Amino acid sequence: MTNSERRIALVTGASRGIGAAVAMRLAEDGMNVAINFRSEGSRAAAEELRAQIEERFGVEAMCVHGDVSGFESAKDMVAAVVERFGALHVLVNNAGITQDGLLMRMSEEQFERVVDTNLGGAFNCMRHAVPVMCKQRFGRIVNISSVVGVRGNAGQANYAASKAGIIGLTLAAAKEIGGRGVTVNAVAPGFIETDMTAALSEKATAALTDHIALKRLGQTEDVACAVAFLASEQAGYITGQVLGVDGGISL
Ligand code: NDP
Repeated sequence: MTNSERRIALVTGASRGIGAAVAMRLAEDGMNVAINFRSEGSRAAAEELRAQIEERFGVEAMCVHGDVSGFESAKDMVAAVVERFGALHVLVNNAGITQDGLLMRMSEEQFERVVDTNLGGAFNCMRHAVPVMCKQRFGRIVNISSVVGVRGNAGQANYAASKAGIIGLTLAAAKEIGGRGVTVNAVAPGFIETDMTAALSEKATAALTDHIALKRLGQTEDVACAVAFLASEQAGYITGQVLGVDGGISL
């Protein structure tokens, strides 16, 4: 594949965890990849991933600094990718945070911060990427929701609302832009071993694992495989779907 034939992908929150695995997997599939990171503390990890991707897969990668919760920041991120690669074919809205607490003790700030990052971030990036994709008459958008957005979870009203919102956003966008050759799907992971779930005690992890049909927590690669499929050429007739990658926790 020549460089001009490669698909261009932007993965948000890709310095570690699921985002890093997705960036790696899309590169393995031959895409040039833009790795978004937010905090200065993540810069080194993003740069290391970029170098690793280029060395292992012979594609081009770039790091894009930016906070997805900012409308202008998301605009700058998309513009930087288009300027460097001349196109944007795949957007994976992965950046996300948690700030757990019971509803009756949850502050307005705690609610807004999580919704603004998880749901607002996906909207902001789509808002700026969709015109580019529609013009190209090709696009793949994959939004990372969660099993918590489908089933709810005590102590995560803010997170559940943001992840359920992502599903609504996915469905609406799929209907709006399907005619332009752009598919929009969501992936709803269960419990995946990353920094986000590292705080769980051994006891809580064991109890949780008992509810998972496959009797193990998921790995970042489990999610990356599902995202890679939805981002591929082969998934061209799939849109508006929510694919659970949860080991059967939702059964
Ligand atoms: P991590 O906490 O390991 O990583 C989150 C990433 O998102 C980091 O790279 C972080 O960057 C980035 N990020 C956070 N806020 C922003 C922002 N405003 N702008 C840009 N980047 C940002 O999370 P996971 O890998 O576990 O989760 C990835 C996604 O998958 C999230 O959306 C999460 O909700 C979802 N998910 C995870 C599950 C799990 O079990 N782990 C289950 C279901 C869904 P930085 O460090 O610079 O802040």
